[in-house]
Amino acid sequence: MRIPVEGIPAVGRRIAFGLRDEWALEAATSSLERAPATLTGELSLHVASRRAGLIRVEASIQATTGASCDRCGEACELSMEELSVLLYAPEESGGEAYDGGEIELSAEELDLGWYRGGAIDLADVLREAVALALPARIVCTDTPQCDRRTDALLAEHAAKPGHPAFETLQVLKQGVDDVG
Ligand SMILES: [Zn+2]
Repeated sequence: MRIPVEGIPAVGRRIAFGLRDEWALEAATSSLERAPATLTGELSLHVASRRAGLIRVEASIQATTGASCDRCGEACELSMEELSVLLYAPEESGGEAYDGGEIELSAEELDLGWYRGGAIDLADVLREAVALALPARIVCTDTPQCDRRTDALLAEHAAKPGHPAFETLQVLKQGVDDVG
């Protein structure tokens, strides 16, 4: 679904999406690497600079999907509730708009993207926003249970030191212990 930038009114344009929107389902599936069980949200497009063709996109996403724990391997649910802000510039400008100080980037942590042919592809935006919202690691919400399962896995592999899975698990467990 492509939105011509010239047609975005001064008040902005909001596009709600859900599981039934094919472009949204495809985009979310591609970034999650699995089909979402639930998906709702809204993309809000605002013209940040008409002259430079800069578009500010607020992406509000709620999604859940089945996943597996990166520590113990047990099936768990990945639940995502994110509001991301992205900035899009025409690819043809080659970043001129930023070099000219058109937009204060320091004020907010904006992620930059590009659009082609005068139109923003909403699927591209959603793919990017979901990818940004993905946690670096997916872990069980029930930490004590996860610990027990991870310990059991470690014990199982203890008889075979040097096994790559053993090393990986130890590193993963260490990481979680450090975090708290
Ligand atoms: Zn786990």
